[in-house]
Amino acid sequence: MSWFIRKREPKDALTVKKLKIPEGVWVKCEKCREIIYKTELENNMNVCPKCEHHHYLPAAERIQSVVDPGSFVEFDANLTPVDILNFKDSRKYTERLKTSAKKTGLKDAIISGRAYVGGMRTQIAALEFKFMGGSMGSVVGEKIVRSAERAIEEKTPLIIFACSGGARMQEGIISLMQMAKTSAAIAEMSEAGLLFISVLTNPTMGGVTASFAMLGDVIIAERDALIGFAGPRVIEQTIKKKLPEGFQRAEFMREKGMVDIVSHRKDIRPTIIRIVSLLSTP
Ligand SMILES: [Zn+2]
Repeated sequence: MSWFIRKREPKDALTVKKLKIPEGVWVKCEKCREIIYKTELENNMNVCPKCEHHHYLPAAERIQSVVDPGSFVEFDANLTPVDILNFKDSRKYTERLKTSAKKTGLKDAIISGRAYVGGMRTQIAALEFKFMGGSMGSVVGEKIVRSAERAIEEKTPLIIFACSGGARMQEGIISLMQMAKTSAAIAEMSEAGLLFISVLTNPTMGGVTASFAMLGDVIIAERDALIGFAGPRVIEQTIKKKLPEGFQRAEFMREKGMVDIVSHRKDIRPTIIRIVSLLSTP
């Protein structure tokens, strides 16, 4: 009698019934790895309720999180990029633009307009990272310049939320020219005695750091944001040295004097209100 030979169970005895969890209800925090209820994360401005890690926040929500409810009026929403170089790397530039537009519902990597913050009129803009890494090409540059010009015309402060990998390589020299162009517009604001608040969010890199983002009269950095020109990996490989702990993070940048304030996301609105009411002459 073969009592020592294990009898095979019927196949279905091994199948475990899968729990049906509707997609997108839970998210995993990229820092503490905790599972968080998506609505809870969204209600907390995409800041992890367990470890306070600041997750990505879309440009539109970024603006809404700062302005007085219902006061934002968008401008230049129809400015569309042109593929002036007929550029193609692994994909055509025009195709990349189409994909990003579909993903974000935007025509380029920035939203700009006028809004009231704490009852004070301001010009406000935010870069959208999900549109080609928030890269600055002709449209981003032009919309920043127009925002600065409106600030001068209406004698208001300008607030820009940077979130970018840098200049848009697909536009070649045209994208690099935006660095000079935006810097010149900020300089004109400064000559007119107007306040420019630059808010650096994760990440602020490359040509955006090397132009308008670092020209704020007051520079606020969101907690733990990566801020720099070249990324830490590239620097480490170039200088062949280990970089210090927290290199290029917001707190490190404040310590080195590159940033004025490091702020939790929820404190950015009250901080901006305080700065505008203190420094902006009506
Ligand atoms: Zn977390």
